[in-house]
Amino acid sequence: MIKPDAVANGHIGGILAQINEAGFRIVAMKMLRLSTEKAGEFYAVHKERPFYGELVEFMSSGHIVAAILEKDNAVEEFRKLIGATNPANAEEGTIRKKYAESIGRNAVHGSDSDENAAIEGNFFFSGLEKF
Ligand code: ATP
Ligand code: MG
Repeated sequence: MIKPDAVANGHIGGILAQINEAGFRIVAMKMLRLSTEKAGEFYAVHKERPFYGELVEFMSSGHIVAAILEKDNAVEEFRKLIGATNPANAEEGTIRKKYAESIGRNAVHGSDSDENAAIEGNFFFSGLEKF
């Protein structure tokens, strides 16, 4: 997912170019805005964390781009490409190092397991929208 900060700052193109160059295939993609309810549902695993309210508010504050990406070892490879959650700790050249503003407004989301990637893909896309 490209988060509201990166969409608002005009980084959709730059981020997608980097994803393409890293060899991911785009299986599905769309731009949309999450309601607070849907953003809360998406990040429900973090419900008990102190930053949950702020996270839900931010994720519903503007448009996002959701995508399903395919590559060998995609979850790990994508997390390498995006860098650490906090851009201050992200490696040079990673998407978060280049585009993230802060730990909260950190430009992109990546799934953390194959299982969650499938759940999150189904959250955004129907079978007819996956290619
Ligand atoms: P994501 O799930 O968005 O790819 P991540 O897996 O790197 O990020 P998580 O621990 O899953 O990190 O946290 C989810 C999101 O919650 C982070 O991307 C960030 O936007 C926000 N977040 C995490 N920690 C904090 C914090 N200490 N303060 C504010 N926001 C935070
Ligand atoms: Mg996460």
